[in-house]
Amino acid sequence: MERPLAAKIRLYVDQPLGPGQSVALTQPQAHYLFAVMRLSEGATVTLFNGREGAFAATVTRADKRKGTLAVGEQTAPLQPPPDLWLMFAPIKKARTDFIVEKAVEMGAARIVPVHTDFTNAERIRHDRLQAHAIEAAEQCGATMVPEVTQIARLGALLDDWPGDRRLMFCDEALAGTAAPLPDTVGAADPWAILIGPEGGFSDSERVRLSQMAGSHPVSLGPRILRADTAAVAALTLWQLRIGDWR
Ligand code: SAH
Repeated sequence: MERPLAAKIRLYVDQPLGPGQSVALTQPQAHYLFAVMRLSEGATVTLFNGREGAFAATVTRADKRKGTLAVGEQTAPLQPPPDLWLMFAPIKKARTDFIVEKAVEMGAARIVPVHTDFTNAERIRHDRLQAHAIEAAEQCGATMVPEVTQIARLGALLDDWPGDRRLMFCDEALAGTAAPLPDTVGAADPWAILIGPEGGFSDSERVRLSQMAGSHPVSLGPRILRADTAAVAALTLWQLRIGDWR
C-alpha cells in the first residue's frame, strides 16, 4: 500500500501554535507518527489546535515514545463550522460513537448528549467521545474540534434554553407528514438539532418541544429512522437548507 503524503497527516495539539514554536508529542501521538505511519526526522505534518488555524510542522526528534515537532508557516485559517449544536439521546456504544464522528464531519459546532424520558443507554464515557471528536476532526480536515458536553437532562437544558437559539426538533410522530425544514430561515441565528432515543419522545416532551419559541418540528420522511441515521439525515438537511453547504 502506498504511504500517504506526510503533510496529509493532521494532528490536533492542545497548545498555542505559531512559527518557531516547538511541540512535544504525547506518547500516543509519537506512536502514531513514528511506529504506525513510519515518519522520521524531517517529515512534515499539519497541526491544528482549534483556535489558530492549521500550521505545517517538521519532525525534529522521532523516538518510539517521544518526539518533537518544529512549527512552520500557517497553512489554513481557522474555519469554524456554523453555530449548530447536535443534541441526541445516547444509544448503544458503537452507534453513539458513530453519531459523534458523523456530527464532526458534518459540521456541528457542539455535541450535546441528552438524557430524555425514554433514554436507556449504557453509561457514556465523556472522555472517549471527546477523543472520537478529535480523531474525526483530524481526519476530515476541520480546524476546530467540537466540544462534547457532559450528558444533561433534556428538561434542564430546555429550562435554560438560550432565547435566540432555534431548534430543529426531529419528531418521529411527524414521519410521513408535511413538516419540512424551511429554506434559509434563521440562517444567521444559532441553531440546535434534537434527535430522540430508540424509544422516541414522551408525550410531555413532545408538547413542550413543539410549543417552545424558535422550535421547528420537522419530519425526516415517511420512514422511521434509527437515531444514528436520523442524526446524519438531519445534519444533511440542515446544512443544505440553512448551513454551509449553500
Ligand atoms: N421508537 C420510535 C422511533 C424513534 S427513532 C417509534 O417507533 O416511533 C429515534 C429518533 O430519530 C426519533 O426520536 C427522532 O428524533 C428521529 N427520527 C427517526 N425517524 C424520523 C422521522 N421520520 N421524522 C422525524 N424524526 C425522526
